[in-house]
Amino acid sequence: MTPDLTSFKRIVIKVGSSLLVDPGNGQLREDWLAGLTQDMSSLVTNGAEILVVSSGAIALGRKTIGLGQGKLKLEENQAAAAAGQIVLAGAWNKVLRAHGLTAAQILLTLGDTEERRRYLNARNTIRTLLRLGVVPVINENDTVATSEIRYGDNDRLAARVASMMSADCLILLSDVDGLYSVPPDKGGGELIHEVTQVTPAIEAMAGSAGSELSRGGMATKIEAAKIVVAAGAHMLITSGRVDHPLAHVTNSGAGTWFIPSATPIAARKKWIAGALEPRGSIVIDDGAARALRAGKSLLPAGVTSIQGDFTRGDAVTILSLAGNILGRGLTAYDCKGAHNIIGARSNEIETILGYAGRTELIHRDDLVLRQED
Ligand code: GLU
Repeated sequence: MTPDLTSFKRIVIKVGSSLLVDPGNGQLREDWLAGLTQDMSSLVTNGAEILVVSSGAIALGRKTIGLGQGKLKLEENQAAAAAGQIVLAGAWNKVLRAHGLTAAQILLTLGDTEERRRYLNARNTIRTLLRLGVVPVINENDTVATSEIRYGDNDRLAARVASMMSADCLILLSDVDGLYSVPPDKGGGELIHEVTQVTPAIEAMAGSAGSELSRGGMATKIEAAKIVVAAGAHMLITSGRVDHPLAHVTNSGAGTWFIPSATPIAARKKWIAGALEPRGSIVIDDGAARALRAGKSLLPAGVTSIQGDFTRGDAVTILSLAGNILGRGLTAYDCKGAHNIIGARSNEIETILGYAGRTELIHRDDLVLRQED
């Protein structure tokens, strides 16, 4: 059965350049964007959090700064992105506001989603925006990303954002209807409605084509699907070549769905439980242990001692006063910071550290408890 868009709680919507920008005149397609935003606002009204990954900076900017139609050098692309990003962000700001939503611009580089400290910072900022009901509008920071360290296509950037934010759905809106049973450059074949496993046969269907304005062809969309499904989220490839593309999905079931085998939280917790080597341990009192079992985060107030040499984002073992392993989590403080705030109440953290640190030592989403015998 096709998933129902309204069943998702946190949706990343990636919008391709070829939809946002008219290839003929290089102008923003404002009416189309307004229709999409109206669809987004219905999802928000329905209780979903929305994140946008928007391409279009280079496509918009090249006209603004007088670069023609041909292939651009890296530095020209970067200059075009610098000029176009202002226009792009301004456009999102305007259309979202018209639907009572607030936009916030986030520009990410590959390192921001790969390197642990920066990843945690980006995630916290985006989490905060979502909590405040703001719509993050994300793009690659094209102006500083050089060829070796860039995503280059927003399909994979959107997939990393979806996984980083534990989104339960990523929608790739582009100029293709979905995945076909033969590669796009061959033409023909049948639309595949549902993929439950990205097998070599599925990858072979993707080929490697991309259009003039958008970087990602079907091959990068399949790469994106692998990231998203491993993070426990659904992914949809669907055409944005219609007005109200999200309403169209709901009404027609159009596109190709990639179905995960676990939920985002389950996938993340599995990763924390299995893939990371703990760098230290944190001993907590009985009250804190009860709070964790009730689904709460670990606060410094419940900590009695700390061992090991760890940095922010490392995995640590959580021990009871009697030395039993209670679980494992990713720490929001390095060992020095954590030492300083042992036993502290949340409102004392800032005075102790001299800066406003996180309230939680380990956030509940970053925590896996061991099953009680
Ligand atoms: N970051 C690029 C831009 O905004 C788009 C990359 C892509 O098309 O995937 O122009």
